[in-house]
Amino acid sequence: MKISDKYLISDNGDLKAVKKVLNGKKLSGTSDFVFDYENKLSKFFQSKYAAALSSGTAAIQTALFTLGVKNGDEVIISSTCPSMSVVPILALGAEPVFCDTEINNFGLNLESLNKLISVKTKAVIEVPMWGYPTKVDKLKHLLEIKKIPLILDLAQAHCTKLNGNCLSFYGDISCFSTHDRKILATGEGGFVLTNNENLFNKIKSYIQFGNMKGDEFGLNFKLSSLQACIGSNRIDLIKRQLSLRKKNAKYIAKKISNPYVKEFEIVDNGDPNYYFMILRLTFSDNIKFINYLEEKGVPSDVLRYDYKVLYKYPLFKKYKKKCINSETLVKSFTTIPVHPHISKTMLDYMISAINNYKE
Ligand SMILES: *Cc1c(COP(=O)(O)O)cnc(C)c1O
Repeated sequence: MKISDKYLISDNGDLKAVKKVLNGKKLSGTSDFVFDYENKLSKFFQSKYAAALSSGTAAIQTALFTLGVKNGDEVIISSTCPSMSVVPILALGAEPVFCDTEINNFGLNLESLNKLISVKTKAVIEVPMWGYPTKVDKLKHLLEIKKIPLILDLAQAHCTKLNGNCLSFYGDISCFSTHDRKILATGEGGFVLTNNENLFNKIKSYIQFGNMKGDEFGLNFKLSSLQACIGSNRIDLIKRQLSLRKKNAKYIAKKISNPYVKEFEIVDNGDPNYYFMILRLTFSDNIKFINYLEEKGVPSDVLRYDYKVLYKYPLFKKYKKKCINSETLVKSFTTIPVHPHISKTMLDYMISAINNYKE
């Protein structure tokens, strides 16, 4: 059996929505369709302000620029994030400072973070991977004392919750991707959320040429109305999508009997969106198990992205700061797909592949 890790949304009113835009004759990012989408985003994610953007990477660059990050500044970021979370820092001429994570989740280790904070630190980025929550409440509390803004890269964590709140509740600016593989998918795209009006005005200006008045710097990071209307339509389907993901993950968690495999730890009062399900592995050779599953047709993001701490890739080598927890963490798990198109047959197939494996 070959199991797909990509959730392809189909037959849900997208065509009707696109047609409406085409009939309206305005396809650009300044049409009312984009405005309506932004209103829908802010309502759904319980944030005062939302701005639609051309990508998740553009969202992070916009957040950094808005918070005043520039040449020579430092931005602290977890070493377990993907390259897309970091390249916007480089794009602004600032320096990424890799911080160690916890050993049981992708949250920044606060002790390590404390040691890395300097007068050059202009922002901190936390990146909850595969939709599993991190302790963003404690992180926000620490940064408030230090007067350093928190950016959350929630590209994989739409609707992931902590203490009953969307994680974005805790960020000064939260960044999302709506790339085709993400929970909310518009092909390419992204958005940012904030509760701060001042920040929001700066965000809007930056993503549309500094409002074209010639006094503020800005680029063009707008989202087209065709993508916005697809997003608007699909927001309505997220709740059901998430409940099916959770049901699949719970089913797997219950049936795993291999003593070296269990569900990844969930932080207290946390609620993952199950963008993927993470399995914690305690084999003497975890990669062998991950390769075995791949051969059985069960794909892993660890293999797909050659996942490791970021400073091990050539592009980021020069920013290396050894992160001991992160290096252990990245070798201790795999991901499996639990999206709504994973049938009961597929779930049972994955479970028996996992349970039948012996080292
Ligand atoms: C997908 C992703 C991004 C980048 O989003 P794009 O829309 O592809 O630019 C950034 N950070 C994380 C954690 C992601 O998963």
